Amino acid sequence: MSVPRTDVLVIGGGIIGAAVADAVAAGGTPVVLLERAQVGSAASSGAAGLLAPLVEAEGPGPFLELALAGRAMFRDAAAALLRDTGVDVGYRETGTLRVAEDDGVARELRHRVSWERERGLGVRWLEPAELASREPLLHEGLSGALFSADDHQVTSSALTHALARRAAARGAVIVEGLGVERLLRVGDRVVGVRTTRGEEYRAKHVVLAAGPWSSTLVPRVTVRPLKGQLVHLRSARTLSHPIFGSDVYIVAKADDRIVVGATVEDVGFDWAPREEATRSLLDRAFRLIPALRDAEVLDAWAGLRPGTPDRLPIIGVRRDAQGLIFATGHFRNGVLLSLITGRIVAAIAAGEPSPVDIAAFSPERFA
Ligand SMILES: Cc1cc2nc3c(=O)[nH]c(=O)nc-3n(C[C@H](O)[C@H](O)[C@H](O)COP(=O)(O)OP(=O)(O)OC[C@H]3O[C@@H](n4cnc5c(N)ncnc54)[C@H](O)[C@@H]3O)c2cc1C
Repeated sequence: MSVPRTDVLVIGGGIIGAAVADAVAAGGTPVVLLERAQVGSAASSGAAGLLAPLVEAEGPGPFLELALAGRAMFRDAAAALLRDTGVDVGYRETGTLRVAEDDGVARELRHRVSWERERGLGVRWLEPAELASREPLLHEGLSGALFSADDHQVTSSALTHALARRAAARGAVIVEGLGVERLLRVGDRVVGVRTTRGEEYRAKHVVLAAGPWSSTLVPRVTVRPLKGQLVHLRSARTLSHPIFGSDVYIVAKADDRIVVGATVEDVGFDWAPREEATRSLLDRAFRLIPALRDAEVLDAWAGLRPGTPDRLPIIGVRRDAQGLIFATGHFRNGVLLSLITGRIVAAIAAGEPSPVDIAAFSPERFA
């Protein structure tokens, strides 16, 4: 039996693998994606879909630059995916509100406004009266909010499926229900994979996009699962912006559901939603938006974020594993960073320079 060969073999059909397959296929390069379950069936199926670099970045630096580059791709990509696949990926330009529940938080957020404005970012401080007129359902006693005009949102599951569908239309071979058991190596080079059915695939480049399971294939990659739980509500009332409090976010989605998230739990590969987490999330949400107390609780959902020790993604190549491209460890930002990760990996596979500086995300930092 002849061994299947391809240029790029992607392990994992989450949002990262789908974005990589789409970007590689866009350049006409042969690509095969192996997903052991279904495309978009893990964390990428239910993530809140926030595109919020200014909430996620602690300050200026490489992560902020990567996240801004990623965010900038969404408007055109959403329009192109609708045209190419007919899928509305739920991209909504709403801006976000980061509310201050007391004067201490207000001081911190005002400080952020000053450095973010210096960096040329579209943010401003809202005093309580303006905040109340923008988002009337918010609790009255808030000390103001940081309004970020360019942080938006998308629907993660729709985006994952649209990317995979377009990748296939561009010639990518997407195989579901087939897992990778291990990498095939010749010396320091990764030359392909062996599947759980015992078949071998040879590839010039293997892309590790297995989310929180990445360490099971490359043990020296320090990616661990960090559980996150959300609650979905339905309410006659709606919100104009995603709202971030200090320990909760509340987001009205394109399908009229309201998402309340999210826990961060270090509990291994357990992604069952728990009643206690639901209650705690709802308490936090009702503190900010008391009017949601009469909302219908639809369901709870949990997924596993791929976490790294420094909370930064792992993107790039490592000297002791030539031929292997890392695209993992995106933690809370896999949706936001999906498109830019796809573009970076496609550039590496084509032997071109990365479109953004990825030195800070190098897999060598854990080697
Ligand atoms: C509650 C919650 C809220 C979130 N909200 C946001 C948000 O608002 N914005 C944002 O940007 N991010 C958010 N995230 C993070 C985001 O969901 C993740 O960063 C992203 O989904 C990771 O995508 P991935 O493709 O790397 O991994 P996954 O979605 O986990 O996909 C990995 C895939 O690899 C497959 N796989 C694993 N091992 C193998 C193997 N050996 N062979 C073949 N296939 C394999 C799995 O079956 C899986 O389908 C959230 C996450 C959670 C849990």
